[in-house]
Amino acid sequence: MADPVQRTVIENCAIATVDAQDTEYTTGHVVVAGELIESVGAGPAPRGLEQVARRVDGSGHLATPGLVNTHHHFYQWLTRGLAQDSNLFQWLTALYPTWARIDEPMVYAAARGSLGMMARGGVTTAFDHHYVFPRGAGDLLGAEVRAAREMGVRFTAARGSMDRGASQGGLPPDFAVETTEGALLATEEAVDRYHDASFGSMLHIAVAPCSPFSVSTELLSQGALLARRKGVRLHTHGSETVEEERFCHELFGMGPTDYFESTGWLGEDVWMAHCVHMNDSDIAAFGRTGTGVAHCPSSNARLAAGIARVPDMLAGGVPVGLGVDGTASNESGELHTELRNALLVNRLGGHKESALDVRQALRLGTYGGAQVLGRSREIGSLEAGKLADLVLWKLDGIGHSTIEDPVAALVLGAAAPVTLSLVSGRPVVEGGRLTTADEGEIARSARDEARRLARIAADAG
Ligand SMILES: [Zn+2]
Repeated sequence: MADPVQRTVIENCAIATVDAQDTEYTTGHVVVAGELIESVGAGPAPRGLEQVARRVDGSGHLATPGLVNTHHHFYQWLTRGLAQDSNLFQWLTALYPTWARIDEPMVYAAARGSLGMMARGGVTTAFDHHYVFPRGAGDLLGAEVRAAREMGVRFTAARGSMDRGASQGGLPPDFAVETTEGALLATEEAVDRYHDASFGSMLHIAVAPCSPFSVSTELLSQGALLARRKGVRLHTHGSETVEEERFCHELFGMGPTDYFESTGWLGEDVWMAHCVHMNDSDIAAFGRTGTGVAHCPSSNARLAAGIARVPDMLAGGVPVGLGVDGTASNESGELHTELRNALLVNRLGGHKESALDVRQALRLGTYGGAQVLGRSREIGSLEAGKLADLVLWKLDGIGHSTIEDPVAALVLGAAAPVTLSLVSGRPVVEGGRLTTADEGEIARSARDEARRLARIAADAG
């Protein structure tokens, strides 16, 4: 006979469920049974529960759904703090030669750094878009999958690709790109090997050619067909900068969104990073087709890309999640600080102080992310029957104790400490520390691999 399901009971905390009604409790409870949320509500947990393995006193805390990241490049953990004052194309051109030297141990160390940093800040579902596959570098996607499994974080790995080198009018140097056929074959193999579509899956694969200026039209079109044949999602960068917009007009005679539409890249199984330079008809096309957006406010500011029109996207029915983006353009590598940055950056846009409120910001980082990753039935809100991916934020310390509204404390205040973070009911953070990995070891091995990469790149250059 199977073991009876063990329960974790969390009580005495404020709760922001981020359900469809934005239900909140000033003092409430969450009961976790196995990997699922069994109940959420006001006051103490129901009496008489059996098989309670653990009781957590959540006094002074806010419980929210775990954060969902929708855009990242783990390997960039090894190239942070470089090209500090560049726009996107200058920054890419400066970094491509170094990135083209990565190998499997480097990507593994970088993935552990990226995942560890996010997990200790309340991310329960991670995402990575990996698109640099130097010949002979080893199993780079496999290294990321291993790192996520070991850390116990839910994961979508996007098998990225680049096949438009400089000789084909693209931005990356020829030595950094794959062949079209090679990229498609490896992407299909990744889906077949790793994608688990079941409820509660810990691993999804997405098809993710990198961007219009690094990918052939053929790879975009064939990638869309491949993803739909396999029933997996599509991801890429879109409308990030004015330079990209100009590139699309010069090469394709149309803007990025029209170009994506012409290659089969609008649809409810697609989400794109950035989407900064979108006009009204672009936003309407995303809304009409259900195409999602990964909003990356810090990266967009770091590379002076501009301000995505998130309030207009939300008003137009576009699913929007938040993204850290690669840590070469957002060195902090955290998602909980993006709640605040999304709110602040959007208030600098056209809608001013009514652009986003704190609850909308929290929704972007939780339910919005789940929508964008195609997982809103499973995660993204605290509701009975969903997976127990949740975070207990400590809000009674020096950084937050004078802010009465706990959601405002979380979004507007300092980066809040995570007392407990659960993924499918299993702790990945306790008392602000990773339970599944040694942070000191992660920091050391990432530093060693970063220095090895810098040495190899310098020797090659
Ligand atoms: Zn990116």
